[in-house]
Amino acid sequence: MNDDLIRQSAEIIQGSSKGIAFTGAGISTPSGIPDFRSHDSGLWQSVDAMAVASIWGFRQNPAGFFEWFYPLTELILAAKPNVAHKALAQLEAMGKLQAVITQNIDMLHTRAGNKTIYELHGHLREATCIHCFTVYPAEPIIAQFLKDKQVPHCPKCGSVLKPNAILFGEQLPIQQLLASQEAARRSDMVIVVGSSLEVAPASDIPILGKRNGAKLIIINLEPTPLDSMADVVIHENAALALPAILSCLESTSI
Ligand SMILES: [Zn+2]
Repeated sequence: MNDDLIRQSAEIIQGSSKGIAFTGAGISTPSGIPDFRSHDSGLWQSVDAMAVASIWGFRQNPAGFFEWFYPLTELILAAKPNVAHKALAQLEAMGKLQAVITQNIDMLHTRAGNKTIYELHGHLREATCIHCFTVYPAEPIIAQFLKDKQVPHCPKCGSVLKPNAILFGEQLPIQQLLASQEAARRSDMVIVVGSSLEVAPASDIPILGKRNGAKLIIINLEPTPLDSMADVVIHENAALALPAILSCLESTSI
């Protein structure tokens, strides 16, 4: 790992008090959750995933969706926050981060202890009836689903229940998106962790911050389209880079 880049990142964070973190699948892969939009994740084998994991696919063939969704749900429920999630929780506690904005549905930022989290692609805490729109706590529904693998139905009207994860073809939750954009405009530092920054409009968040004067740190295994505008780019596993930055920040040397 490049010590200079770690130190530069720590210095930027040191000088910030209104930072935001923007996270994607790469922060959760060390917790054992594959990038479910990535074709090498294994979750896509033998299915036309774009169709299965889309809102139109869901409405046409809920059983196909839930069959695809089953292994992902199992992985998410078994996963634990890793050192990268915990480092972000610590940065919030230190007054460096005002919010975490995430593309992940795995709820690991909540479990790591972050307080202000905007989940742009939804979560698995609730499920909604696609006909009468009644919202239910997802925990008992998921427990039942993992037991019997049956498509869950609405107790009120009998229609299918959809987890409150955002599928392909669905709008992002508008309140979460607006709050994220506002946090980006106010921010003095944006740290991108494990996102390829390819899915708009979510990927515009770091650009908004940068345009308003924030410093931009990108930690991602692969290059991203925003690398050229970043102040620091670290092509590294987040579970290695973030703890290194944190310990540099905590040392008295800067
Ligand atoms: Zn219903």
